[in-house]
Amino acid sequence: MCHRQDEDGKHLLFSCKYAKSVWRYLQLEGHRATLVNLPDAKAVSEYILSCSVDVQVWLTTTLWVIWSVRNATNAGDPVKQHEHTCASIQRYVLDFASMSEPVQRQNDVSHTRALRWTRPSEGVLNINVDGAFCEELKTGG
Ligand SMILES: [Zn+2]
Repeated sequence: MCHRQDEDGKHLLFSCKYAKSVWRYLQLEGHRATLVNLPDAKAVSEYILSCSVDVQVWLTTTLWVIWSVRNATNAGDPVKQHEHTCASIQRYVLDFASMSEPVQRQNDVSHTRALRWTRPSEGVLNINVDGAFCEELKTGG
């Protein structure tokens, strides 16, 4: 993000000036300050899972969007202003919240359809990741 040669996940997500601005803007600085001091990704995951579901959504969405912005920047896109990144995070969280509420069909309240996220089974950690592969160059990322 800031073109450090030795950028790692901890720097990108928690220590980078850009990331700090995002966490602060979203009033998640307390969580960032805790997360930056955890020893590894497992501890980060355990911390997130110890939070309320609402906070889990904010934290995971913030991590995912910072990661996405970094990938876009590495692909040549201009660095987004942190306010723009925060607006994306807020929009995703609101979209997620709206999907968690029952949706009623117009003129037919008897057919209430719930579009709900469901928690994975006990002992299962569900992680969604993305990646790309270029068959010609046999490379990915
Ligand atoms: Zn940085």
